[in-house]
Amino acid sequence: MKVSVIGAGYVGLTTGLCLADVGHQVICIDKNEEKIKELNKGNPVIFEEKMQETLKRVLKKGNFKASTQYSDILNTEITFIAVDTPVDENGEMKLTNLENAVRELGTVLKNKKSYHIVVVKSTVIPGTTKDLVIPVLEKYSGQKVPEEFGVCMNPEFLREGKSIEDFINPGRVIIGEVKQDRRAGDKLVELYEDFPSRYVVMRTGLTEAEMIKFANNSFLATRVSFANEIGNICDILGIDGHVVLEGMTLDPRFGKSHLQPGPPYGGSCLPKDIKGLITKANQVGYEPVLLESVEKVNEKQKGRIIAKAEKVLGSLHKKKIAVLGLAFKPGSDDVRFSPGIEVIKGLISNGAEVVTYDPMAMENAKKIVGNLAQFANSIEEALGNADCCIITTEWEHFRNIESEFNLMKEKNVIDVFKIIGPTKSKELNLNYHLI
Ligand code: NAD
Repeated sequence: MKVSVIGAGYVGLTTGLCLADVGHQVICIDKNEEKIKELNKGNPVIFEEKMQETLKRVLKKGNFKASTQYSDILNTEITFIAVDTPVDENGEMKLTNLENAVRELGTVLKNKKSYHIVVVKSTVIPGTTKDLVIPVLEKYSGQKVPEEFGVCMNPEFLREGKSIEDFINPGRVIIGEVKQDRRAGDKLVELYEDFPSRYVVMRTGLTEAEMIKFANNSFLATRVSFANEIGNICDILGIDGHVVLEGMTLDPRFGKSHLQPGPPYGGSCLPKDIKGLITKANQVGYEPVLLESVEKVNEKQKGRIIAKAEKVLGSLHKKKIAVLGLAFKPGSDDVRFSPGIEVIKGLISNGAEVVTYDPMAMENAKKIVGNLAQFANSIEEALGNADCCIITTEWEHFRNIESEFNLMKEKNVIDVFKIIGPTKSKELNLNYHLI
């Protein structure tokens, strides 16, 4: 099939590359000219496992092209919209990028004579596809849904760091469709059939599909805050919260994911989606008491890492602290709402001198932290003069760095993700602290 994708970020690029890899002809449209140039040269710009080699492969096969020109969409049958949908300072989801993309898409579709399918992949507040996407498309294209073009809402659940793997093995595919119109959804089902993995397809209304994404992320965030609340109570009672949560997750009804005490949730999705849903709920007259608490626990958890540093070091003023890990999760270079960046901000505001290192996310972090922290070229350089080290990303890389940790002998190490563990920390002779 001939496919176009608007937005070449984590979701859009993953969608485009995976579809191109199974033989579809894909064109990725983005407004960022620099990104488009790099993509066509074989540089994905973002770091994700398997992304570089997949891009090289699909370029070689001639299945993938990147462009800034919306007119290239004319040549395709189906368009995925995967632009970013951040929240503003009031917690409301900003739909400007989506609206601009839809307007330009509609203008292009005006010149298209054959049936076209538009798939919303961006996370959008329930009602957006029906009340914004469809009316704008109809207005600018002069065509009607479902006769002249079809619309689906197909939320994405991939995990950053594992985006390619998750896209190919989705587990479930949710397809939201316009009432009484199966044509667009049928085509989407057909498109995904090229992925050999087993997955469940659920077909539903547009708003239900939009809401499933929010319910999903709200539940994950709730689990994180639950684990932190139990962990914090354990901490005060002198109980090892990690052992408690581990024991709890042995119950087959729970599963292990997002139930580790220590780190607050971060990244580009959970914080903004929870905030967006809280704001929407309040706007329609419902007080989302549980979700507001989830967010409150998370905010406090960020402070607990700084509080732990103060507990072990006393005043942080002029203390030299190494922060290992800037990506919000391993396997990614995304630093949006990452615990590492939050910790650096907290340390600096308390007068500490911060040196930091991450195997992948240094360039993105520099754009946020600037010269407030020193960026080291290696773990060794980061730990060299440090009074304390705080590990803030669960990089596999940090698990196996015994020689470098010799530099921290008898010094304080705060391990937010428990990646060293008490046994190994004893062998390394560290003053070891968990959150
Ligand atoms: P991103 O910021 O990485 O990428 C968005 C891209 O869209 C950017 O390259 C930007 O230049 C481009 N863009 C913005 N407006 C445009 C326009 N009008 N025309 C063309 N290009 C435009 O975003 P992302 O992380 O890929 O997220 C995209 C959407 O998917 C969001 O709604 C997000 O909530 C959702 N989502 C993200 C993830 C994730 O793990 N990142 C997972 C599931 C869902």
